[in-house]
Amino acid sequence: MTCFMCKGILEDKLTNFIADLENCIIIVKDVPSQVCTQCGEVSYSNDVAKRLEEIINITKNALTEIAVVHYSDNVA
Ligand SMILES: [Zn+2]
Repeated sequence: MTCFMCKGILEDKLTNFIADLENCIIIVKDVPSQVCTQCGEVSYSNDVAKRLEEIINITKNALTEIAVVHYSDNVA
């Protein structure tokens, strides 16, 4: 697979995903992702993107201003 931005090479890497919501910020750590070695563009597989959405939906109900969650935590 190559980067859709610059056609560079994608590398499997764990990255942090940050969701900046209206009333809170959620940081999801160690998310499996593909990072372009050329431009740094980060992309996620469909499964990972879906799981991130679930994590965000559940975590935003915790009503804290900043939440840090590990991707592998069983929040869903
Ligand atoms: Zn790229």
